[in-house]
Amino acid sequence: MTMTDQTVTDAARREQARLAGLRGQIDDLDHQLVELLARRQKVVAEVVAFKKERQLSVYHPAREADMIDRRRRHALKVGLDPDYLEEIFRNIMRYSRSTQTAEISRIGVKPGAKILLVGGGGAMGRLFARWFKASGYEVRILEVGDWERLAALCSGLDMALVSVPIAETVATIARLAPHLPKECILADLTSVKEPTVKAMLDNFSGPVLGFHPMFGPDTPTMERQIMVVTPGRERPENRWPAEQFAAWGGVVVRAAAAEHDEIMAVVQALRHFATFSFGRFLYQRRIDLNRTLEFSSPIYRLELDMVGRLFAQDPELYSEIIFATPERRDLLRNYLESCKNNLEILAAEEAVTGGGRDSFVAEFKEIAKWFGPFSDQAIRESGYLINKLIERF
Ligand code: NAD
Repeated sequence: MTMTDQTVTDAARREQARLAGLRGQIDDLDHQLVELLARRQKVVAEVVAFKKERQLSVYHPAREADMIDRRRRHALKVGLDPDYLEEIFRNIMRYSRSTQTAEISRIGVKPGAKILLVGGGGAMGRLFARWFKASGYEVRILEVGDWERLAALCSGLDMALVSVPIAETVATIARLAPHLPKECILADLTSVKEPTVKAMLDNFSGPVLGFHPMFGPDTPTMERQIMVVTPGRERPENRWPAEQFAAWGGVVVRAAAAEHDEIMAVVQALRHFATFSFGRFLYQRRIDLNRTLEFSSPIYRLELDMVGRLFAQDPELYSEIIFATPERRDLLRNYLESCKNNLEILAAEEAVTGGGRDSFVAEFKEIAKWFGPFSDQAIRESGYLINKLIERF
């Protein structure tokens, strides 16, 4: 071996040793990360025990959002990509949530209590029958042909939960209520709350609770699912149905029936109607959807997925939800009027002279100001979805 060969080999060895040293440091750091995660998991177990004892909800959206926000700011401070950090922490939190839920959701808050599911053969009825049974409740079903057995079905009942189509709900409540034991809770799952809670209060003098699950019958889990609870006639001993839902991992949101209906008019009626209108317009113009997708940006694909999703579902259910109350129908009329007003913007844009363009831009800026800090969150969340779509399609 020549002198030069020897030098080259030494240099290569030094390089190797340096790389091995760096890899060793990474191994050490990974080891510490694993140890830290194990320590974190132990603290999570203490939180589980604490929540289990007090029957508290597993998921606290506001706390998670706040944690993610702080981790992101920390990431920026130490020169890390906040999106990368957020993804790691969302994974960690998802895992700790699912272990908490698995542990807590087995509990029946009032096992052995007798629950009558009115319309229990329907989609939502079957879902709740399964969950209540799994937590040790005695579940009875009242379907269309079971009314002659009503007295037996109501005997010793702890809760009657009405889950019939919206249009049938008020009449069903009126028919059922006189047969319920005095201390039994009368509750419902209807998507519209003011008329149904009123019907329960008018027809029954015992405890009354309104529920609206913000999820459909196909949900495999209650984890992080939202249940709106609208107060009717509450007593402290009647909190167990909402506590049961929280114990399954769900999030209970309390709202007066009027507020619930007002918000739902936007979240459900307006949203679905706007989606319907967009889909209808595409249909009327016989747009070649697949061809548009070949040119599409991910955001267009995402939007079209939402439209396609609506038309893949049950039109009766959507018609019930969208047009359920006069208030909802009024809101839709206002929306259509507002769309018509946009013609003014179009006209202003066409009037090329006289600074016509300002109309759209000025309006846009004003609306953007109104959206305020939500815009950052919207960019972040939609960005996440778009990236997932790009990964997949
Ligand atoms: P569904 O049509 O699947 O079930 C309704 C059931 O009620 C049927 O089995 C029907 O036979 C029964 N029924 C009708 N009239 C009856 C009567 N007089 N006596 C006894 N049973 C009767 O409807 P669903 O989707 O399960 O919806 C039920 C309720 O849940 C509705 O109030 C709806 O607003 C609410 N909800 C539904 C969803 C959803 O995504 N499906 C989500 C949230 C809330």
